[in-house]
Amino acid sequence: RKCLSVIQKTKFLNAYITVSYEVALKQAEESEKRYKKGQSLGELDGIPVAVKDNFSTAGIETTCASNMLKGYIPPFNATVVQKLLDQGAVLMGKTNLDEFAMGSGSTDGAFGPVKNPWSYSKQYREQRRLRSPGERRGADEDWLIAGGSSGGSAAAVAAATCFAALGSDTGGSTRNPAAHCGLVGFKPSYGLVSRYGLIPLVNSMDVPGILTRCVDDAAAVLGVLAGHDPKDSTTVQDPVKPFVLPSLTDVSKLCVGIPKEYLVPELSSEVRSLWSKAAGLFESAGAKVIDVSLPHTSYSIVCYHVLCTSEVASNMARFDGLEYGHRCDINESTEAMYAATRREGFNDVVRGRILSGNFFLLKENYENYFIKAQKVRRLIANDFVNVFNSGVDVVLTPTTLSEAVPFLEFIKEDNRTRSAQDDIFTQAANMAGVPAVSVPAGLSPQGLPIGLQFIAPAFGDQKLLTVAKWFE
Ligand code: GLN
Repeated sequence: RKCLSVIQKTKFLNAYITVSYEVALKQAEESEKRYKKGQSLGELDGIPVAVKDNFSTAGIETTCASNMLKGYIPPFNATVVQKLLDQGAVLMGKTNLDEFAMGSGSTDGAFGPVKNPWSYSKQYREQRRLRSPGERRGADEDWLIAGGSSGGSAAAVAAATCFAALGSDTGGSTRNPAAHCGLVGFKPSYGLVSRYGLIPLVNSMDVPGILTRCVDDAAAVLGVLAGHDPKDSTTVQDPVKPFVLPSLTDVSKLCVGIPKEYLVPELSSEVRSLWSKAAGLFESAGAKVIDVSLPHTSYSIVCYHVLCTSEVASNMARFDGLEYGHRCDINESTEAMYAATRREGFNDVVRGRILSGNFFLLKENYENYFIKAQKVRRLIANDFVNVFNSGVDVVLTPTTLSEAVPFLEFIKEDNRTRSAQDDIFTQAANMAGVPAVSVPAGLSPQGLPIGLQFIAPAFGDQKLLTVAKWFE
């Protein structure tokens, strides 16, 4: 009930698209009854959680923040949602995002942008006043983006409306908002957690992500979610580890790699200094910290763009006005109905990606773009394999170029370009399928959170989180 009242009080953040009051209250009551009887459904009994609105939830509207899916009520739960519920978690609602998870600011959804809770911290407000005396203190246009595309999930956890939230991560969408909102944002290895019921963006890169306040919480949720799912053939068969993290780790035998290509000119000095401070921390604890090279990093944005839009072009074909959600009033012909429905249903980011993707997939372009991008993707993935085979345990990088920026600044530039640049540190892990986690590393002089990212070899999730816990 406390969490529901916080949701009410923080409505202005626009973190939720749907708040499932009745469902949450009923689940909480049942959990309370169990507790009184000394029973427990499982790991998450009674714990309030939120779910990004691109996961199917039985009987609860699932929109992907798109007019196309407004009013769509799925008849089934995504596997990860079902697993949370099976362990007694209380579902608070569905969180806001960029339309169909395309973006990195959570500013691009049909239900309006998400505001970063840190915009309202005392320190930030005071700093703003100091920096620009003419500005109205607390003016609404001062607010900061939450990052994205899982910005609603990040704001929901950061504002204490729940203890954990599901995000999705295709190119950084869980780690980016986690960094901007001062949270742990974890993208498990591709294949460890089922994608069944996660409405796809890029099937070959999508991974359900976890946003929490600390690493132990992320590990606890991973323990619930991980494992083979007959409904997702890309999930691995191996038995699931318990994902309980040791409380103290000796890092003296650890080798931490610092990729030199990640020191890009756009990196803010605040992030840069926390990054080297973190490296120093490992060094003084006895770990080996070495420079490594991920030589194909500079191709990653272009490569991602070709692969992402190509898969988008194919994935979005299902939204034709017949099966799900929105259908326009035009009915002169099937083609006219398709076209008008899609024009009305999708925003310009989604339409732009469908067009680009179809261009790359044209018979005469396919070899030159799609196939070539797949080859480059392999090289990017091999960069990680080579680094980890050389004895490096984890790679340490920034998560984002800077701390969260004000909304008005974010929308000034072409959003698509901005969003692509923002993913420079996070995207490669999706193309390689390796696990990565963003952990709060400190505050900027403005009092805003900055995250750093750890990346580990595929299925080294347990080790990754153990190192992250030591660092946090
Ligand atoms: N910003 C990237 C994009 O727009 C990544 C999004 C994501 O991870 N869902 O494609």
